[in-house]
Amino acid sequence: MPTTIAAIATAQAPGGIGVIRISGHAAFSVAQALFVPKKPLDYSQLRAHTMSYGTLHDFPSSPEQPIDDIICLFFPAPHSYTGENVVEFQCHGGMAVMQRALQAVFAAGAQPAGPGEFTRRAYENGRLNLTQAEAVMQLIAATSEQAARAAQAAMGGALSQAIDQTRATLIALQAHISAWVDYPEEDIEALEGSELTAVLNTARQDLHALITKAPRDTLMLQGINTALVGRPNVGKSSLLNVLAGYDRAIVTPTPGTTRDTVTETVQLGSLTLRLTDTAGIRNTSDSIEAAGVRRSRAALAQADLILAVFDASAPLTDDDHAILADCDPARTVVIFNKSDLCPPATLDGSPLVNHPTKQVSRGPHLGLPSQTAGGVYLSALHSTGISALSQAIETLLNTASFNPNEAMLANQRQQNTAAQALAAIDEALAAHTAGYPLDAISVCIEDAITQLFSLTGERAADAIVGEVFARFCVGK
Ligand code: GDP
Repeated sequence: MPTTIAAIATAQAPGGIGVIRISGHAAFSVAQALFVPKKPLDYSQLRAHTMSYGTLHDFPSSPEQPIDDIICLFFPAPHSYTGENVVEFQCHGGMAVMQRALQAVFAAGAQPAGPGEFTRRAYENGRLNLTQAEAVMQLIAATSEQAARAAQAAMGGALSQAIDQTRATLIALQAHISAWVDYPEEDIEALEGSELTAVLNTARQDLHALITKAPRDTLMLQGINTALVGRPNVGKSSLLNVLAGYDRAIVTPTPGTTRDTVTETVQLGSLTLRLTDTAGIRNTSDSIEAAGVRRSRAALAQADLILAVFDASAPLTDDDHAILADCDPARTVVIFNKSDLCPPATLDGSPLVNHPTKQVSRGPHLGLPSQTAGGVYLSALHSTGISALSQAIETLLNTASFNPNEAMLANQRQQNTAAQALAAIDEALAAHTAGYPLDAISVCIEDAITQLFSLTGERAADAIVGEVFARFCVGK
């Protein structure tokens, strides 16, 4: 029988309320040993979601003085988060109170819970499947509203349902093949080649759609690693400060003073940017600054998004062109800062996201690209043009079409597993085209099914076996 586990479920910081969660067969006896209810409580008659007010005591060490006034919540199995008996103590959330209460819970027989152990038990007891369990972690980690909504949808089973459907068609196909191959005497209808490819192609399309949008979904779920590049003094730190809403980086009029990288998570509309303000990239003899330049180049290589900043009030320099050449157009939004210093006639504020490398060389104004040549004009000093920047990023990364309620592959494990399932389906299709016999094709299909089951943390064998025999006559 699994041990009874306990942990502080709320943040390890002072708070108005702190919750200690206890799960396992002995959860109620632990509560009974420590909790004195104000109104009598019959532990043998506890109903789902019972709540009781009383005092929490550490009887062996200080029987007179209660640790705290608490509310005790009871969740008898199986109607609890973990599927086991669960008790939650709602204490006053002081750190000392919480630690004392937890020690008393351990002294009464509970063991310290490991990381994720409550959710693991929920999974093991069938309360959640694996993708739903992962969504719980996703919800806790979510920093944006969109990411939290997506985690909610995943907890509700958005991905599991999409996968279930694909899996069910493959299981039906596999069962048909197995019945036909293994039980020739059963007079089972032969499988048409066209039916085989139709089912496989539909499954392929469904998985391919999920896999293709996964990089975009990941940006929305986990935030966008963004490198802010540009030569010194173009206003990168000022822009970072505007986006962050306060003075995070040191802004100075002396070039080359941002020597280290500064990272800040900012919310820009529905996007979460993890912005790294890099040391200005330029040729330098200063060794400390050179180290900063190296780090800038590394940030540039790893970034999901590059914000390349130029000074709109002066002609582009050779350094500017060198920086542009370093930026991958597919990941870059070009920003012309200090637009407040430009003649108004050159500014119409339209956001454009195409890489302007070509246009830069033929820009009309002091060697600048024209307004329509693909850059966002803004002024970090006056905080203007920020919404145009946000639109340009949304267009570049195609994030506007993100729908948090859709099924999505939310982490690397899910993406790898789906990719393996897709590879197995491709193999099945290739084997069919090459004229392999059905039992060889069925090995590939079974592999795809196994992968799809492992996506939700289940085992394939039982489901396939069940379907195979469902095809037999009654009485067999
Ligand atoms: P960085 O070296 O690229 O990080 O540039 P800073 O953010 O330190 O800015 C360099 C100088 O340009 C500072 O004096 C800023 O006040 C000024 N600056 C930054 N953005 C703007 C802007 O939009 N308009 C004007 N006029 N000055 C700006």
